[in-house]
Amino acid sequence: MGPQDQPDYVNAVACIVTRLVPGDLLTELQRIETVMGRRRDGTRWGARLLDLDILLYGTERINEPGLRIPHPGIAERDFVLFPLRELAPDLEIPGRGTVSRLCRTVSAAGLVAIPEEAHA
Ligand code: ATP
Ligand code: CA
Ligand code: CA
Repeated sequence: MGPQDQPDYVNAVACIVTRLVPGDLLTELQRIETVMGRRRDGTRWGARLLDLDILLYGTERINEPGLRIPHPGIAERDFVLFPLRELAPDLEIPGRGTVSRLCRTVSAAGLVAIPEEAHA
């Protein structure tokens, strides 16, 4: 995504349990990005140290200027759908179908799986 002259990047999907409401969860994720050293220079989709997005929050749908859930890119992004399928193939993306079905609509050609033994 975005500028094509950026280095390869690693994507992962995690499933978490939280007591934070969606807005507070986003604030906390952005705090972690900052603590880890992310600096926002205004370039959309440019290379960055860390990018933590909320893909889904249960079955909730939120459409506010600063928070959209499900994440609007989820159904088109191969690098989101394939890692998500490893966790939850039958998960229903509200309004878009299951993760498995969506995977069949995108190509995995640009993706390289990182072998489990390489996970640090
Ligand atoms: P994209 O959201 O298309 O993957 P990005 O992650 O590069 O792009 P950022 O610059 O990290 O975009 O974030 C821009 C804004 O997106 C954030 O300030 C946040 O308010 C907003 N945002 C809206 N919905 C979400 C969401 N589901 N998860 C994370 N951020 C979101
Ligand atoms: Ca993102
Ligand atoms: Ca983000």
